[in-house]
Amino acid sequence: MEQMSAAVFDGKLRYGTDYPAPVTKPGWARIRVKQAGICKTDMELMKGYKGFTGVLGHEFVGVVDRCDDAKWIGKRVIGEINAACGECEFCKKDLGRHCPNRATLGIFQLDGCMATYCILPTVNLIAVPESIPDDRAVLTEPLAAACEILEQQPLCGNERVIILGDGRLGILCAWALSTVVSNVTLIGHHPEKLALAAWRGIETAKTTDRIEAGADMVVEATGSGQGIATAMSLCRPRGTIVLKSTVAVPGDINLSPIVINELTVLGSRCGRFQDAISMMQSFPDMPLERLITDRYPLSHVVEAFDRAAQKVAIKVLLLV
Ligand SMILES: [Zn+2]
Ligand SMILES: [Zn+2]
Repeated sequence: MEQMSAAVFDGKLRYGTDYPAPVTKPGWARIRVKQAGICKTDMELMKGYKGFTGVLGHEFVGVVDRCDDAKWIGKRVIGEINAACGECEFCKKDLGRHCPNRATLGIFQLDGCMATYCILPTVNLIAVPESIPDDRAVLTEPLAAACEILEQQPLCGNERVIILGDGRLGILCAWALSTVVSNVTLIGHHPEKLALAAWRGIETAKTTDRIEAGADMVVEATGSGQGIATAMSLCRPRGTIVLKSTVAVPGDINLSPIVINELTVLGSRCGRFQDAISMMQSFPDMPLERLITDRYPLSHVVEAFDRAAQKVAIKVLLLV
């Protein structure tokens, strides 16, 4: 059996060179991974979330090296992470997105991309245009999550938007929204991260600054849900609050401002990869590479995860 290098989690994170390489099935492709990103979900999985064991990782750019459809071989690709089973009633009706047996790359019942190879159905793959280098392509998934806001709530451009949270997602939301809206303010704790977000006239402010209320849209991207009270106080009546933090909202928060001010609350999670790729093509100066704070070879994966857990790290990449 063919073996490969991989970052495996089985209760403990370890690097090995003798992990069995994944075998392609009909309609799937094997991808030689070039770069993989560490994200918060990976760290959650290591705390026991979803009981996952196996190869971690779901953010990658790589090159197809095996596939029964020859047109994919040699293509540089990224991939949507949910893989439908192809056999159930939903899949037979072409509703793979609702497949109850779907597996998720590096998250649920499918080995991830922190390895020499990973596999995905070819329908999940997106060929990366020549103009987009690996360092940008590997950020497609997080940028897509930011693009999702524009998909859910089309903006005309004269709105005032506030984003709470200067982490990776907050910064990406600021960038994505500023492609459409000129009045965007990013609020956070860290001067160095706020400085890094500078692009297209984005204003920044510290959490302790006095911020003028009455924004048309407030995006809660603090990652902790703590920003929801602030979001309610900064949003104008009949404005929109976008919730981007997947953690539970603290139970003692008074939600009555939502009713009193007739606020629209929008839950927003993942977005379409193609939207992110199109945005990268339309805005080649969007400074995505600034988010990459560290790079490690895959063999140093344990060190890389320690680094990713530190506040100063934004995006840590593994070079495979
Ligand atoms: Zn992720
Ligand atoms: Zn299915």
